[in-house]
Amino acid sequence: MARQLPALTLEQLTVELGSRARAVETLRWLFSQRPMPTVLPEAIEGVSHRVWKPFRARHGLVVPKVTERQQSPDGTTKYALDFAGTNVETVRIPAKGRSTICISSQAGCTRKCVFCATKELGFIRQLKAEEMVAQYMLARSEAPVEQPASNVVFMGMGEPMDNLDEVLHAIDVLTQSPAPQLRQVAVTVSTSGVLPGLERFLAESKASLALSLNATTDEVRAQVMPQNKTWPIQSLLNALRKDVERRNGKRDYFIEYVLFKDLNDTDADADRLITLLEGIPSRVNLIPYNPYPGTNLETPSTSRVRAFHARLVEQGMLTLIRWPRGREIAAACGQLVLSRDGEGFQPSAP
Ligand code: SAH
Repeated sequence: MARQLPALTLEQLTVELGSRARAVETLRWLFSQRPMPTVLPEAIEGVSHRVWKPFRARHGLVVPKVTERQQSPDGTTKYALDFAGTNVETVRIPAKGRSTICISSQAGCTRKCVFCATKELGFIRQLKAEEMVAQYMLARSEAPVEQPASNVVFMGMGEPMDNLDEVLHAIDVLTQSPAPQLRQVAVTVSTSGVLPGLERFLAESKASLALSLNATTDEVRAQVMPQNKTWPIQSLLNALRKDVERRNGKRDYFIEYVLFKDLNDTDADADRLITLLEGIPSRVNLIPYNPYPGTNLETPSTSRVRAFHARLVEQGMLTLIRWPRGREIAAACGQLVLSRDGEGFQPSAP
């Protein structure tokens, strides 16, 4: 199917517009507008009307409708977006000197992680690369100038490895010159561990990889992530090890580890995690579980989270605790789910 803006690559635009210079002008224009444009204009500078007019007649611009915009006191902004009747969520997370945009790759999710609120939606549909790039464009156009949208994480709704063609195309567009020209390492794809997709991603992409490990034994992991029965822990870590060898360490690997009280938060778990990650130069992100009603999982105490962190650090592991951001607006990890008209799941207040 023919691509639309904003998911046309420089090469595709060059063919369509008949010159690379016009393609460059078009991309520059597209990613510099504030607010995000909702239609293609009648003319843009640097592209002759003769060429632009038929191009504009052939191509639309995929634009989300913002149905809700919620900002938490730390500046984290959650957007509820509507793409022609399909609802998804995008989060903009400001930090010093930059913003990270958390993008959804599916409406709902193909996976059934017990602890994740998105599963309540079931699987609605795959998002197109256009819709992923448009999420970025919108958030980028609203990022403070001193906190530009330099980073993207595919950590919103959905399992990126189950929609990999579109995710890879979106990454191509996000990292291309002249705009938006994100660095490959500044784009991170997060997976629950879908082995076939993970292997293909590692073979085809230079972007960073986050693996949501969330447990140190197959027994516990299968309890919270049923797909672990198909792709157990070692199969996933072996894929990473192979990639470390192939790429000679030229990729950033993150291990996401949601901490659940009394399930995966013991010192023995911390020690097992160190052993599991041998041979994988990775950084661990500890995410204290963001609770939502309907599970019997609990969040460990702050002191347990700190002790787990300390035990990893003592053994030389680069480890960060991801204290929840945007929890007030249910924008934290695993809280992306829509609540319209009182239907569906309503995120609880903190
Ligand atoms: N499907 C992908 C990306 C979406 S989830 C994946 O699983 O990686 C993004 C991150 O949020 C994952 O690391 C996931 O383990 C974590 N997460 C999901 N639900 C959570 C919850 N309730 N509390 C804390 N983290 C959660």
